[in-house]
Amino acid sequence: MNLEILNKEYQTNGPRGLIGMVLEHYRGESVFSTSLQAEDQVVTHMLCGENKQAVDFITLDTGRMFEDIYHTLHRTNQRYGIDIRVMFPHTDRVEEMVKEKGINLFYESVENRKLCCHIRKTEPLVRALQGYKVWITGLRREQSVTRNSLPAAEWDKGLKMIKINPLVDFSYQEVWQYIRENKVPYPSLHDNGYPSIGCAPCTRKVEKGEGVRAGRWWWENPESKECGLHLNKNG
Ligand code: SF4
Repeated sequence: MNLEILNKEYQTNGPRGLIGMVLEHYRGESVFSTSLQAEDQVVTHMLCGENKQAVDFITLDTGRMFEDIYHTLHRTNQRYGIDIRVMFPHTDRVEEMVKEKGINLFYESVENRKLCCHIRKTEPLVRALQGYKVWITGLRREQSVTRNSLPAAEWDKGLKMIKINPLVDFSYQEVWQYIRENKVPYPSLHDNGYPSIGCAPCTRKVEKGEGVRAGRWWWENPESKECGLHLNKNG
C-alpha cells in the first residue's frame, strides 16, 4: 500500500484511522513490538479495540529488564486476552560478549553500548519481524532529537517493510490522559520518576525539568541515544 495513502488517512482520521486501515489491508501481516511502557500500552489498547486478531504482538527480553516490566507483561496479556510473544537474544552471543567485555560493558564506551543493544535487542527484533509486511511502533516525535522528523507511515529501508507510528503527534500529556481515561495498565516505575524505561542498568530516574528520555543512557550525548531499533534512514 502507498505510504501517501496511509499518511493521508492519518492526517484525516488520526491514529485510529491509520490503525484501522493497516489492520484491514495487512491482516495477519502486521506486528507490534511493545516495550510495555506507557506509549506502547496506548498502542496495545488501540490495536485491541480495533481488531486484535489481525495483528501479532512481540516484546524483547534482553535479560536486563526491570521486574516491573515482567509484571506489566503478565497484566497486559490478562487484560486484553492476548499472548505477547517474548523474544530472547542468542545465548552464545551474550555469553561471548560478556566473557570478552564484562557484564556492564555499556558504561565504558558508546561502541560497547551499541554492541550490547545490538545483541540483546536489535538482532532478536529483526528476527521477530521477519515475514511481516508492517511494523507498528509507539514512537513519538517529541521523545528525542533523533525522532523529531518522524512521519506516521514510513518505509524502513533496512528492514524493507512499512513502519507505522500512530502516536507520532501525541504529547507526553496526551499519552497519560489516554491511559487515565481508558484505565490502561502500565509499569509502576512511571509513577516513581521513570518517564521512559529501558533496561535496568541503562535507565535512571529523571530530575524535575529534565527531558522524558534524559534517564536513558544518561552518560551519553543526546544524538547517540538510540538502541539501533529505530535508526531508519527512510527512502
Ligand atoms: S539498554 Fe543497556 S543493557 Fe539493554 S541492551 Fe542496551 S546496552 Fe544492553
